Amino acid sequence: MQIPFSSKLPMVSTTIFSVMSKMATEYNAMNLSQGFPGFESDQTLIDLVTKAMNDGHNQYAPMAGLYALRENICNKMNHLYGSNYKPETDITITAGATQAIFTVISACISKDDEVILFAPAYDCYEPAIVLQGGKPISISLKLPEFSIDWNEVKEKISSKTKMIIINSPHNPSGTILNQDDLLTLQELVSDTGILILSDEVYEHIIFDGKEHQSVARFPELAARSFITASFGKTFHNTGWKMGYCVAPKTLMEEFQKVHQFNVFCVNHPMQVAFTTYLENSKNYESLSSFYEQKRDLFLEGIKGSRWEYTPASGTYFQLLSYKNITDEKDVDFAKRLTIEHKVASIPISVFNKNGEDPKMLRFCFAKKDETLKQATEILSKL
Ligand code: PMP
Ligand code: GLN
Repeated sequence: MQIPFSSKLPMVSTTIFSVMSKMATEYNAMNLSQGFPGFESDQTLIDLVTKAMNDGHNQYAPMAGLYALRENICNKMNHLYGSNYKPETDITITAGATQAIFTVISACISKDDEVILFAPAYDCYEPAIVLQGGKPISISLKLPEFSIDWNEVKEKISSKTKMIIINSPHNPSGTILNQDDLLTLQELVSDTGILILSDEVYEHIIFDGKEHQSVARFPELAARSFITASFGKTFHNTGWKMGYCVAPKTLMEEFQKVHQFNVFCVNHPMQVAFTTYLENSKNYESLSSFYEQKRDLFLEGIKGSRWEYTPASGTYFQLLSYKNITDEKDVDFAKRLTIEHKVASIPISVFNKNGEDPKMLRFCFAKKDETLKQATEILSKL
């Protein structure tokens, strides 16, 4: 018997990350698709987790997270961005940024609320909005720079706009927002009740001497913003699924109303380990130069080939245009590359609501140097 059931997310299928990673395994291809490091997390951090478990930190953590960890996060943010976050009220430790994003949207978005987001957009925003009965309003980033047309944003803001989601450094394009972007956004939303969700999971991966423009640097924006962050991205352990959300007290209270009934709290021994690990600022300050070298190695490897690109300004992703190689659809080409040439990537059209296909693939360069060399040798022959 078939139980009559209508899906709440009829347009959603298995994420492209699962699809491409599975194909990479099946066809024994180098996996430059799903964004995760192809090398281990620091042994010191792994030892700290083991020690925390042996020391007996194996029961529930406090709902918002360990106070000492929240304090270290506040210290880091206030030092880097000149903000004034307080550990008592403004931070919650989450199961990765994904849970933080879902919780922000669940706590803030009601039926018919409009949420502005920019396409190509990371794939977890829209389903969360739709599940709450909200309406995603997608604005296309302007190629080739993947920049935001703020006039268009102004036109799309309506009395129903409840939230704007930004993401810098940006997945999948590897571009960043600059100070003018943030100041324009600040002006656009002043005198409105619009909230900002600023997904900053790549805040510590930024290249060529540029600075991360966190919303935390702009007091009027920070007052209406949730910031989401990911330890997995910063400390090479995406499988631990640890992250956090930062927001001023009144917003964080609403966040925690949902969080406490969603997971209540997250992994305790890892929180103990991150508390100690964060005390050494070198552990995150060295990340940009570490990944900049990998970006440069990757780009050096495809120099002179038919792939076209603008070097990524942040994240560990590089977009490559294949328009000089084939006119296949990006999804088809990504699959063929995996099967025939043994290099897996992510097609960009899946991040565009309307399926727009700029003939680009995203390659993750958070891999061992040998893997990057092998992959670019193959790519540059195409
Ligand atoms: N936002 C963006 C832009 C991401 O790329 C990712 C994934 N890596 C996340 C959120 C989710 O982060 P996490 O793995 O910590 O859930
Ligand atoms: N954020 C990672 C990426 O962009 C994937 C995370 C996931 O698989 N959900 O590749």
